[in-house]
Amino acid sequence: MGNGIHFRATRAEIDRDALAHNAQLIRENAAGAKVLGVIKADGYGHGVISTANAIAAHVDAFAVAFIDEALQLREAGFSLPIVLLEGCLSAAELPICAHHNLQPVVHEPSQLDAILTSRLVRPLAVWLKVDTGMHRLGWHPQEVARVYRELEACPNVGAITLMSHYANSGDSEHPLTQQQNDLFSAVCAETAVTESLSIANSAALLSSSKDFSTLDGHWVRTGLTLYGVAPRTPDRNITIPLRPVMRLVAPVIALREISAGETVGYGSRWQAKRKSLIATVAIGYADGYPRHCPDGTPVYLNGVEVPLVGTVSMDMITIDVTDLDAVQVGDEVELWGPNLPVDRIAEAAGTISYELLCRVSSRVPRVEI
Ligand SMILES: *Cc1c(COP(=O)(O)O)cnc(C)c1O
Repeated sequence: MGNGIHFRATRAEIDRDALAHNAQLIRENAAGAKVLGVIKADGYGHGVISTANAIAAHVDAFAVAFIDEALQLREAGFSLPIVLLEGCLSAAELPICAHHNLQPVVHEPSQLDAILTSRLVRPLAVWLKVDTGMHRLGWHPQEVARVYRELEACPNVGAITLMSHYANSGDSEHPLTQQQNDLFSAVCAETAVTESLSIANSAALLSSSKDFSTLDGHWVRTGLTLYGVAPRTPDRNITIPLRPVMRLVAPVIALREISAGETVGYGSRWQAKRKSLIATVAIGYADGYPRHCPDGTPVYLNGVEVPLVGTVSMDMITIDVTDLDAVQVGDEVELWGPNLPVDRIAEAAGTISYELLCRVSSRVPRVEI
């Protein structure tokens, strides 16, 4: 690992063409909106530099969570604007933002004070965040007009984008969604901002009945769909032909036959009902394969789905290949990817695809294909 050589075949293949394809599809679906490519958390685990390379031509700006993630992109030579979704955590970051064209979200009084009292060599573009009901970050709608005016009057501030975030994105029937839309429209009217607005993420963009009536003048902030995963939303008819970007692969490293009644793995969780052929695969929870996966979680091997059997170990899993012909040591198993949507594994593990993607650990090499 340290010298860049990997003997173990376990890897996450990253499909660059799929990234570009997805970014183009998002652009088409976004109508006239600008696209903010969300590549926080190492590009949702795909490798931020590969991701940025593949999508740079198809997005209008990047977004990351905090400044360190943005500086990694600047060091790699990317010049698109970068939005910091959590804003600056200290005033010392502001001159760096001004220098590197990083655009902080302003969601909190200390962030506003820091901007108003700094002396910056050039004005910052900022994103003013409104708390329309998510209650995580942002200004109360009643404070927004005042904060907007203070920012507008400050020589440190250039363009201002108004933004908010859905708590139930893609669920246009949810009462809170309607309330959030109404509050957001009201602050836009109050501040007279008609372009440079941003409320939709992946699910909101793709939900069949759009959460926002028009996206003119908007920025859409898309993460998950870039990586080829359709958001889980109650608005079902998402038909956009996304292509999964990550294919998580690991080899079979052992095979054994066990008798009916024998058990497999820690805690003897799984017991064979018949004479069974068990394959051991070189991936475990230390690689980010979720330990919570129950017996029966699918993996994809030699063209078919076969079930996980037994508790996930740190470095290995065991699968039941009794019904397959000719499995051999060295055969490659797809844990998720084009043949097995990551969402299905997430569902089995009681989590969401976002978590599985960004938790693929650093010992799994990302291999661009
Ligand atoms: C991560 C994030 C997004 C991207 O959401 P997806 O569901 O991955 O499209 C958008 N907006 C904010 C504020 C985020 O933190």
